Amino acid sequence: MKPATRLERIYLVLTLILMILAAPAPLLAVGQAKPPAYYQKIKELAVRVEPEIIAIRRDLHAHPELAFQERRTAGIVADYFRKLGLEVRTEIGGTGVLGVLKGGLPGPVLAMRGDMDALAITEETDLPFASKEKVIINGQETGLMHACGHDIHTAMLLGVASVLSQMKNQVTGTILFIAQPAEEWGDGAQKMIQDGVFRDYRPEAIFAFHVDDTLKAGYVHYVPGYSGANCDTFFLNIYSEGCHGADPDQCVDPIVVGSHVVLALQAMVSREIDVHDHTVITVGYFHAGTATNIIPKKAELRATVRSYGDEHRERLKKKITRTITGICQSHGAPFELDYQFGTPSLYNHPELLEAIRPTAEAVLGGPDRLIKDRPEMGGEDFSYFAREIPAVMLSLGVVPPHLERTSVHSPTFVADEKAIGLGIKLMSCILMDYARKPAARRVRAFKKS
Ligand SMILES: [Zn+2]
Ligand SMILES: [Zn+2]
Repeated sequence: MKPATRLERIYLVLTLILMILAAPAPLLAVGQAKPPAYYQKIKELAVRVEPEIIAIRRDLHAHPELAFQERRTAGIVADYFRKLGLEVRTEIGGTGVLGVLKGGLPGPVLAMRGDMDALAITEETDLPFASKEKVIINGQETGLMHACGHDIHTAMLLGVASVLSQMKNQVTGTILFIAQPAEEWGDGAQKMIQDGVFRDYRPEAIFAFHVDDTLKAGYVHYVPGYSGANCDTFFLNIYSEGCHGADPDQCVDPIVVGSHVVLALQAMVSREIDVHDHTVITVGYFHAGTATNIIPKKAELRATVRSYGDEHRERLKKKITRTITGICQSHGAPFELDYQFGTPSLYNHPELLEAIRPTAEAVLGGPDRLIKDRPEMGGEDFSYFAREIPAVMLSLGVVPPHLERTSVHSPTFVADEKAIGLGIKLMSCILMDYARKPAARRVRAFKKS
């Protein structure tokens, strides 16, 4: 091929320069956007506080406490907040603690939440700080374990409070640090709200982490919109006069009626519910009878009902009640139905999520580290806060390098503590960046379910 002439080379260079100038702005910005100067300060402070926070996490892990009994944990949190010079309120909604950091610059009120309670599980890890605590439940001794990472959530709450209070002259507005009891029972957040956690300061937005047992440390999952389900239950008793198993025509058979109920509810989900309205009905408890030849006087059924949003939840309650009533009446079986709404679905505010996305990507080191996840049908009582104010919960990867995954609520749950320092940095930057946004660019309106 003939070598390019001098004129051709000049033309080529000019064309390239024009192409670069005409490129969309984000292309030019790649690698050029400078993070705010306080990122460096946050990083330094987070690195400095990390060993202390990991030590606290290990201490909390070794001494887990059940829902509403988190007195030792709450004491550690309150003492730590006081040492940092925060305004502290304790015993909110039971054992809840609120720490208030007033920044040196005027700005909005924002909040971070960490939950404190553990689970009645006997730990089976070989961690040097594994829990040896025991508790008696229903007359049976069982172990206690932080198997859902709430020790990590509480420790990170302290870490962020430490970092930001050491640079409070640069903090814009007020930050509430909320240590919440009883997430596992699904009502700690609600109790704190009812007990006036927002009495003196009402945040514009609230953020939280949950550990993610499918992701390595360094990665974060997010779900815009619904990410956790309404966790409702029903208790159904079906009655009979009872009779001999050889004479089934002499009484109603509550086991047969209950079996119809179980199957009809599954058919109801597939035939009566819009396929886009996520729904799970699981009858996890069906107890009846004592012998092969006796038709019992009672069958007891208990179920969990999972869905998203208030409207769908109400509709489901009506349909389930109608189905159960119809089946029991058609068999002439007296029944009692107790339908209870539990923890509402968690709604991650999509605009709030978008507003903090650049911060998360910058701190994590790129957009590929912030991964969109599928919504789940599990429950998370952070939803009570999300019904009050715009909220975002991020899932922080904690799977250790030597494992494919780790499993929350399992006796072998282990977490990579590298995630703790990252979480402290990430939440500190989110709170600092979001507070600095002008009011018009912060989220105000929100969906309440
Ligand atoms: Zn849990
Ligand atoms: Zn949890």
